[in-house]
Amino acid sequence: MKHELIKLPYSYDALVPFMSRETLEYHHDKHHQTYVNKLNELVVGTKYEKMHLEDVILHSDGAIFNNAAQIYNHDLFFKGLKKQFSQPSSKLNNLIIDTFGSIDALKKEFISKATTHFGSGWVWLVIDENKALKIVSTSNALTPLTEGLKPLMVVDVWEHAYYIDYRNVRAEYLENWWKLIDWDFVSSRLSIINELGDPNSIKDCNDNSDLCNYVESLIEEERVTS
Ligand code: MN
Repeated sequence: MKHELIKLPYSYDALVPFMSRETLEYHHDKHHQTYVNKLNELVVGTKYEKMHLEDVILHSDGAIFNNAAQIYNHDLFFKGLKKQFSQPSSKLNNLIIDTFGSIDALKKEFISKATTHFGSGWVWLVIDENKALKIVSTSNALTPLTEGLKPLMVVDVWEHAYYIDYRNVRAEYLENWWKLIDWDFVSSRLSIINELGDPNSIKDCNDNSDLCNYVESLIEEERVTS
């Protein structure tokens, strides 16, 4: 299948002053687009050509893996941002409190891990095999999908994610990224994992099948109860 660059679910100016138009133009239109173009080139004539993105990630290595994983990681990063105030659903909030004690404690641990991650990579909030919340970091293109973990949210700590706006001050970028988290989106991923086992079930949902309608209703329900 031909991989497509996701459309940002907000305008290029929507995240100002925490993330500039210029950063989004470079990060989404250039970096992210390049991973998509590169993967489409690399899979031609291989067994990966007809696979969904997640399957490519689970079965490949080398350049194909790196480009596929970077598409997945960036899709989740960009979809997880918005300017409007939001907060975790009651289910996610309870899970955060049970695991970390409070949202502030989660924030502290998450940002500390992201600030001290050496070199390029990603920091994630995931659900593990015991349905517990966990913070993990991965280097370069690596993604927790290959460890059987289910990602709820992610922050990009590659320099290209923040250098235009924050130069070398990663900690300031992270503080401001935290204000942009779309908790409705993160909460809806938790619901989908709880109900369907896998947030990637949503990948097939561009039609009116029962599954897609069900996924939509879960997301809607989270919005209403959050
Ligand atoms: Mn990036």
